[in-house]
Amino acid sequence: MAKTYDYLFKLLLIGDSGVGKTCVLFRFSEDAFNSTFISTIGTLQDRSVFEQSQQHTIEGIMLVYDITNEKSFENIKNWIRNIEEHASADVEKMVLGNKCDINDKRQVSKERGEKLALEYGIKFMETSAKANINVENAFLTLARDIKSKMDTKLEGDSPQGSSHGVKISEPQKKISFFPCALL
Ligand code: GDP
Ligand code: MG
Repeated sequence: MAKTYDYLFKLLLIGDSGVGKTCVLFRFSEDAFNSTFISTIGTLQDRSVFEQSQQHTIEGIMLVYDITNEKSFENIKNWIRNIEEHASADVEKMVLGNKCDINDKRQVSKERGEKLALEYGIKFMETSAKANINVENAFLTLARDIKSKMDTKLEGDSPQGSSHGVKISEPQKKISFFPCALL
């Protein structure tokens, strides 16, 4: 069935292999968690990553690490450096500490995640694709931030923008994501 939307944002999920990018996206788009199916679609999507990310302007990037994997957390800095070199400065970013359902194997405290995100001026959330914690919240927050950035830009471009006191209230709009790539 065709899905309708008012806004379509292009989104990239990056982070080390195995942190749960495919699962997070699948949880958000299908509200499901199924390991076998996910590893299959993950492989299929990974193959066309480079091609696709060349063709689209990315509006949002989710930087994902695994709270049970110290290395994946340390690598977030490298991923951010990579983005700064290759993506538009305008791209809205968010850091996700995934797998927060497995607290007994935790290697990265929530405070360290918060501190890292703060250093870069990026929002942060701990998520679990498996237990369905904060996944929708994260995507919707990113979507809202992309949209308000777009609105601010439009206001700046147009002399009749709301900065001149004209405010047109819109009905509730539906926001969707087009997942460009899963690395
Ligand atoms: P990707 O390489 O970043 O796309 O990672 P995947 O989405 O393929 O997930 C890697 C592994 O982590 C799989 O075995 C998933 O079942 C598992 N996984 C992903 N998200 C979670 C989560 O939130 N909690 C737990 N416990 N396992 C997860
Ligand atoms: Mg994957």
